[in-house]
Amino acid sequence: LFVRGELSEGGRLELDPGQANYLGNVMRLGEGAQLLVFDGSSGEWLATVAEAGKKRMTLTVGPRTREPESIPDVWLAFAPVKRTQTDWLVEKATELGVAKLIPVMTQRTVAERVKLDRLRSIAVEAAEQCGRTRLPEIAEPLSLKQLLEGRDSSRPLYFADEGGGEPPSSSFNPGPALILTGPEGGFTDDERATIRATAGAVPVSLGPRILRAETAALAALAAFMAIAGDWR
Ligand code: SAM
Repeated sequence: LFVRGELSEGGRLELDPGQANYLGNVMRLGEGAQLLVFDGSSGEWLATVAEAGKKRMTLTVGPRTREPESIPDVWLAFAPVKRTQTDWLVEKATELGVAKLIPVMTQRTVAERVKLDRLRSIAVEAAEQCGRTRLPEIAEPLSLKQLLEGRDSSRPLYFADEGGGEPPSSSFNPGPALILTGPEGGFTDDERATIRATAGAVPVSLGPRILRAETAALAALAAFMAIAGDWR
């Protein structure tokens, strides 16, 4: 369970009413019941229900069951698509181990407004399900120009280019990474030229077929994790 607040050995934690209700009334946990909790930075802890009320629950914390995990420093900049597909993309990218998600508004991006709170709670649920104890950061949307001009040039920019590019196996290298994929309508020629002209940009092919935007984002991320991430 993801809990807000600093976790420490022997600490006590007052759950928010929503979580207290879920654990007490849905999961029917009572005093003495044990669960695993994480706060996103200090690893995973065993927690014991100390007090359980209608809408209240207090946990005592400890011992730590897993040290803070190190996840690959992989960022995925994706052009948002329709809401359900974007929700799905965030959930799957979290499971795959992404460290940061950056919505990028390109000329052909058709998404409605990106609801960050919604995406952040999807990432929490995905982290709880897949057992990662460090949450992905979900950044404020950027324009393609802002992304390219604001990036740290020591972080390789791998961009999924259906117009060319090398296979993932000869493109991806271990280390920090920024993976960029386009919208349903693709990058415009100008955008593609600007990206290709960006120092350190590596065009990557994801095979001979045209993948949907959300498929391409996850395929690129999975390929990176398998070749240069923490799936080895
Ligand atoms: N240009 C595509 C077309 O002709 O239909 C539209 C874009 S595609 C649906 C969405 C994005 O996924 C692209 O901008 C690209 O980033 C990525 N993509 C899709 N298929 C790819 C492939 N085979 N290789 C590399 N990137 C791909």
